[in-house]
Amino acid sequence: MAREAAPRLGSGIGGARGGQSTGVVHVFWLAGMSCDGCSVSTLGAITPSVEDMVLGRIPALPQVVLHHPMLADDSGQDFVEPYRQAAEGTLGAPYVMVVEGSIPDDQSLERAGQFAGLGVGSDWPRSLPSARASEQPLRTSDWIWALAPGAAASVAIGTCATWGGIPAAAGNITGSMGLMDYLGVDYRSARGVPVVNVPGCAPVGDNFTEALAELLQYLEGIAPLPDFDELGRPAWQFEQTVHRHCPKAGYYEEGVFAEEPGDTECLVEIGCWGPVVQCNIVERGAVNHMGGCMVAGGACIGCTMPGFPDKYSPFYKAPPGSAISGGISKVYGGGIRRLRRMSMKSGNREPMWDNAENVPTGWGRAKGKRDPVDKVNAYFYKKLQYRGSVNHAARNKKQPLPQSRDILTQKGVDHTRHVDVLGERIRSREEI
Ligand code: SF4
Ligand code: SF4
Repeated sequence: MAREAAPRLGSGIGGARGGQSTGVVHVFWLAGMSCDGCSVSTLGAITPSVEDMVLGRIPALPQVVLHHPMLADDSGQDFVEPYRQAAEGTLGAPYVMVVEGSIPDDQSLERAGQFAGLGVGSDWPRSLPSARASEQPLRTSDWIWALAPGAAASVAIGTCATWGGIPAAAGNITGSMGLMDYLGVDYRSARGVPVVNVPGCAPVGDNFTEALAELLQYLEGIAPLPDFDELGRPAWQFEQTVHRHCPKAGYYEEGVFAEEPGDTECLVEIGCWGPVVQCNIVERGAVNHMGGCMVAGGACIGCTMPGFPDKYSPFYKAPPGSAISGGISKVYGGGIRRLRRMSMKSGNREPMWDNAENVPTGWGRAKGKRDPVDKVNAYFYKKLQYRGSVNHAARNKKQPLPQSRDILTQKGVDHTRHVDVLGERIRSREEI
C-alpha cells in the first residue's frame, strides 16, 4: 500500500509528493526468467535515481510507490496484497506494471508448470489452478495477464522482457518470450499505451528511469506522449547505432582494426556488431555516466537487439558484413590516413618555425627545414584553406622574427656548462 508517512521499505516504497504533481502512481515490479541484472542497473541509475522518484524529489512527477520483490521489507501476504488489490481493481490509484525477465510459456497445456513465480500463499485469483497450492507463488505469467489490462502503462525492462533474450535462445525448453509477444499485438494499457520496451542485457539503468519518468509525466497529463519508435523503444535513446558515437569510430574510418582484445583500434574484426546495433551506452555510460562496452575496450555483441543472442553469435567473430565495409574502409581509410598525416605534419609547426627553418624543441629531433614536397603540399593546401578569406599563410611569411628569440644564446649562456641547481640548495646532513 502507499505509505503516507516518511518513506520506508515496506510492500511499497514511496514518499512525499514532489513538484506540482498531485498524483500517486504505484509501480509493480514483476520478475520472470531473469537474472535480476535489470534491477541492479536500475538501482544504479542517477538521472533520475530511484531514490529521487520514490522520495518525490523530482518536480512535476507523481509520487512513485515502488513494489519490488528485492527491495521490500514486507514479505508473504503483506507484500502480495497490493498486487492483489491492483489486479482486483481496488488499489485506488493508477499503476504501472514493470516486467523484468522473459515470460515462460507456462500457460500452455504443453508446458503447463511453473518456471517463474512471485508471492507466496496467494489466494488470488481463486479460479487459477496455481492458486490451489496456497503456499506456492503464483506464476509470473499469471500476474502479468492479470495486471496488464488495468495498468496505466506496461514497461518491459531488459532484453529478456523486451525480446525474449537469453531464456528464449534456440534450444530453450521454456518457450520464453518478451512482453509484447505475450500480450499480443492488440494490447493497449488502460491509458491506451502499447508495451514500452527498454532493452539491454543489462540495460542502462538511466535509460529505464528516464523513460519511466517521461511516461509518468504523460500519464499525469502534464507532458505529451514520449517519442517511442515502432518497437516501443524510447526513440531518443535507441535511434542511433552505437558505432556512430563509439570512441573507436575514428579508427574504423581510417581503416585501422584491432587484431586481439586489448588493442586500442576498432574492434570490428574481432566481433563488434556496433555498426548495426541500436544502443546509446557509449555516450550515456553504463553507471554514473561512465564506462560502456567499447569505452571499456569490449566489442558490441548486440545485446539490445531483438534476436539477441542467437542473431549475434558466435560472439567475438567478425560479422560477415564487416568483410565488405571494413575492407572498403581499409582501402579509402588508408588513403585518408596518409593525407591526414601530411596535414598533421604541417599543423605541428608554428609559422615562425617555418620562417626560421628551425624548431626550438629539446625533446626530439624535429626537422627545421621542410622537404620540398611538404612545402609544395602546404602551399596548395593553404591556398585552398584561405580562398575567399585573408591569407594568413602569406601574412605569416612576411612576419619578422622576434628579436629576442633564442635569448640564452644571445646572452652568451654556455649550454654545455653543467649547472647543478639542486646542489646549490641541498646541503648534506653534516653541513646542517
Ligand atoms: S569498435 Fe565497434 S562500434 Fe566502435 S568503431 Fe569499431 S565497429 Fe564501430
Ligand atoms: S554496445 Fe552492444 S553489447 Fe554493449 S550494451 Fe550496447 S548493444 Fe549491448
